[in-house]
Amino acid sequence: MISSIMPTCSRAPMGFEKGAGSWLTDTDGRRFLDFGSGVAVTVLGHAHPRLVAALTAQAGRLWHTSNLYQVPNQQALAEKLVAHTFADTMFFANSGAEAMECAIKCARKYWHAEGRPERHRILTFEGCFHGRTLATISAAGTEKLTKGFGPLLPGFEQLPAADLDAVKAALDGTVAAVVAEPVIGEGGIIPLPDAFLRGLRALCDKTGALLILDEIQSGMGRTGKLFAHEWAGITPDIMAIAKGIGGGFPLGACLATGEAAKGMGPGTHGSTFGGNPLACAVGCAVMDEVTADGFLAHVAAVSGHLRQGLEGLVATYPDVFTLVRGTGLMIGIKCRVANADMVSAGYDAGILTVPGGDNVLRVLPALNISVGEIDEGIARLGTAAQRVAARP
Ligand SMILES: *Cc1c(COP(=O)(O)O)cnc(C)c1O
Repeated sequence: MISSIMPTCSRAPMGFEKGAGSWLTDTDGRRFLDFGSGVAVTVLGHAHPRLVAALTAQAGRLWHTSNLYQVPNQQALAEKLVAHTFADTMFFANSGAEAMECAIKCARKYWHAEGRPERHRILTFEGCFHGRTLATISAAGTEKLTKGFGPLLPGFEQLPAADLDAVKAALDGTVAAVVAEPVIGEGGIIPLPDAFLRGLRALCDKTGALLILDEIQSGMGRTGKLFAHEWAGITPDIMAIAKGIGGGFPLGACLATGEAAKGMGPGTHGSTFGGNPLACAVGCAVMDEVTADGFLAHVAAVSGHLRQGLEGLVATYPDVFTLVRGTGLMIGIKCRVANADMVSAGYDAGILTVPGGDNVLRVLPALNISVGEIDEGIARLGTAAQRVAARP
């Protein structure tokens, strides 16, 4: 008999009752150090006092009015994001996939507004992940995501990642946009080289194609900059963000330049819940924390410490791990054993990590994690690795 929850996800046996900072307590009272952040979501850890205060204050005032009216918190959050990014404008959604849907629609509508509707093709990269809606699985194209869900949406073409020649060959007068994840997340924490991102920007400029970045996982301070593309010194035309921006409250957004968004007039797109007062109250508090003086410097400082510790683990357990890659607090440890075995050995050692593509163990702690907690996490990962290595 099927479970009451559709079994789309194989879940670990434990569930959590409460959290504080980088720590979670399960329903049996066991404590876990959270090195996964619910997949790069809880950027300020659990139950951050400022976020709790923002949400509870808003909860006592007003929950929902719809986008038929002005939503003051939504306006405030948009202004903060405009002030700190390339964007002139944005659309708020409830998730990453919806943010990507808006990005795709925005790019196609741009060319429609330009009187060039034949420019509708969207180029994406192999190994990228953009969500689970029909458009976003069609965009990624990976069989694991698409199998059995056809017919897929036409107009997407996947190119080998980080291959500028492939992009050059594919960019013609029918391409609306190119979509890239600056740091491939689900696919196994693979940063695209800065030179590739700069080359991609230049090719888009030359051909007029819009550059869409999916910073749903890499954004909101995760790499030590507010957004990962800043490292390459480029800006996109359109960017999808979600995960960390609500600090654990569901929130997504599609940011764009005024030019790229010129097709998105009244009635072109919408969402009942997108940008609701609760989500945006929390979103404003997250933005204030992440853009506060010293916050991103902390990410850079502790990420160096984490990286060193993880390199040490790889050296100590060469039969378990092969290498560490990634940037900031978005780290992947490539495993020699099955990554799922490491994740579950981590549970036994009281630490949560997230499996990723290419047999990677993802380490995505809260951005305000302390050096002491990082040391504790490395010790626990060491215990887990030792147990896995000792297995026959
Ligand atoms: C998680 C993720 C998504 C999808 O976000 P949802 O909120 O699950 O819809 C899309 N792109 C990237 C890069 C992601 O990491």
